[in-house]
Amino acid sequence: MNIQVSHKGQAADQAAGTIVAGLPMPEFKRITVEPISGACGCEISGVDLRAPLDDETLAEVMKAFEHFLVIVFRDQDLTPEQHKAFTRYFGPITELPQAPTYGEHQDMQEVRREAHEPENVVPSFEHFHTDSPFLLQPPLCVVMRALEVPKFGGDTAFSNGYLVYEHLSDAMKELLDGLEVVYSGKEIWARNEKLPPEKRLRLRESHGFSEDELENIHPAVRVHPVTGRKALFATTAYFKRFVGWTEAESQALLGYLQSLAQHLHYHCRVKWKKDTLIVWDNRFLLHRGVHDFKYERRHLIRTTVMGERPIGPKGPRKD
Ligand code: MN
Repeated sequence: MNIQVSHKGQAADQAAGTIVAGLPMPEFKRITVEPISGACGCEISGVDLRAPLDDETLAEVMKAFEHFLVIVFRDQDLTPEQHKAFTRYFGPITELPQAPTYGEHQDMQEVRREAHEPENVVPSFEHFHTDSPFLLQPPLCVVMRALEVPKFGGDTAFSNGYLVYEHLSDAMKELLDGLEVVYSGKEIWARNEKLPPEKRLRLRESHGFSEDELENIHPAVRVHPVTGRKALFATTAYFKRFVGWTEAESQALLGYLQSLAQHLHYHCRVKWKKDTLIVWDNRFLLHRGVHDFKYERRHLIRTTVMGERPIGPKGPRKD
């Protein structure tokens, strides 16, 4: 495995101790951080998100987010404005062309399944995915809060894309490092229209995005702009093909890569409660809802933060 650890001498490394999410467990003084699994995710307590955060608390929240990729806060009864104010610590809020908006808030989205509805009305995917990879600057993260959740089930699961990449052979890493993916969101409305009404997803009816903005080419391996750490950035959602590959070749490799993200040792899974708020990374982490509940309402609201244009191992794309 290709993991960077600090080399302050063996004793210091042992003292630093526990590896979690692929790297030594960071230290936290202002907030309480409880890892959810060995692979990703933590619960943070001791923070009230209704008020602005002081600099040190905010720095620790960001450190936890960078390290664990999923941070979970419980009992956060926020107004939409407080939700947005907290979101802006991560970057500018962005709109999405396809996701239904929340009430009058065009800059918030909702994931809502009514008790009488089948599971496929929610514009989520049956597989691990990242949100809106077809945009030139796909989301950096999602900030989601639960308004109403089933008594049992309806969790969200996450898979750490850094770990998926780091477990590949050097030869496979080299192949993927040179690959690019065409992602397209152009066809989802037309495809939805063709489905029988009971099979259709609930999509946003109108948006201000041009056709050209709905298709982009991104690297299959994404590099963190500050740390340089690499993660797999190829999933089935909105995937068209690898650049220069036929569709059949593309689907064969993609199927293998998608299978890797299913391994339990890359995962954590979060059980929602009312007023649970989760921030998850959309660059180096995959997510999916688990639709294992029936005849219960599930209503989550979210903001989306704009990310940078994905950077590949060979640097930014030149066009
Ligand atoms: Mn999603």
